[in-house]
Amino acid sequence: MGYGVIEFFEAHDSTIRKKLGRACALPPRALRFNILEAYRIYNSKINFVKGGAVFIFVARKKFFRPIPPGIYPQPGNWVQWTMLKAALFDIDNTLVNFMRMKRNAVDAAVDMMMDAGLPGPKQQLVEEIFQVYWREGIEDQQIFDKVLLEKLGRVDYKILAAGILGYRRAKEAYLAVYPHVHPVLVDVARMGLKMAVISDAPKLQVWMRIVALGLAHYFDTVITFDDTKERKPSPRPFRLALERLGVQAHEALMIGDWAERDIAGAKAVGLMTVFAKYGDEFNTVTSGADHDILDINELPGIIRRANSPVAA
Ligand SMILES: [Mg+2]
Repeated sequence: MGYGVIEFFEAHDSTIRKKLGRACALPPRALRFNILEAYRIYNSKINFVKGGAVFIFVARKKFFRPIPPGIYPQPGNWVQWTMLKAALFDIDNTLVNFMRMKRNAVDAAVDMMMDAGLPGPKQQLVEEIFQVYWREGIEDQQIFDKVLLEKLGRVDYKILAAGILGYRRAKEAYLAVYPHVHPVLVDVARMGLKMAVISDAPKLQVWMRIVALGLAHYFDTVITFDDTKERKPSPRPFRLALERLGVQAHEALMIGDWAERDIAGAKAVGLMTVFAKYGDEFNTVTSGADHDILDINELPGIIRRANSPVAA
């Protein structure tokens, strides 16, 4: 826990009032309330107030208030309140239920390839395709060519076409956002936060998913693998997102499903971190994030608490 939202050094009451006036002009309303509350306590000469996770300590005309973990006050400024101004989202398995789509698409592709003459058994084919995915990358666009070459020693175009068609049909049917994604994004936008997507997937694939799912208008910027040629946890995609949004690292949070990439990467750059446990494919025990969530609808509460710890 760090300290120091507002500090007064031997200031006269009128000066304090003027400074409070300026502080009170800061958004959002919750912060306004908190500062007025602090002022009221200050004026009534209460030296030490402690309640819940929040306390206000007034001594020698100094205010100290706890601030959320991962957020640090900036030195040299009398108002040292750090607000979250941006939210960075991973997309696959964080906003989009990507693996469910992938599993269903592969299942449908195998059914159609078997119908076109590819010998089974089915479960073995499915497993082989996923092995190629893990080896070549989950975004591999030539996956069935590779599988057919391995299995038959050649690409049979009847089987290939069947596989691609089966895959595409199921993909259309199963590509979906997790429950509550849309209302949460609306809520975060209404809180005034800028929003970005940071994905390790290729640019076109990311945009296809964003547009297909009606997410395009939420985001101020979209960072893909093609933008930095580096994958998370490299600091580059995170820094590029912050730069494009015009916010500092401590003013942003990152939400993602991959602890080693999304969480470790964001943490190293200095962002607050939220682990999308609902999308976790690795049975992660310790994410290392500031918050683990089981539903994305927990996110607005985390932001509200971070931006107004007194009211929380
Ligand atoms: Mg992901």
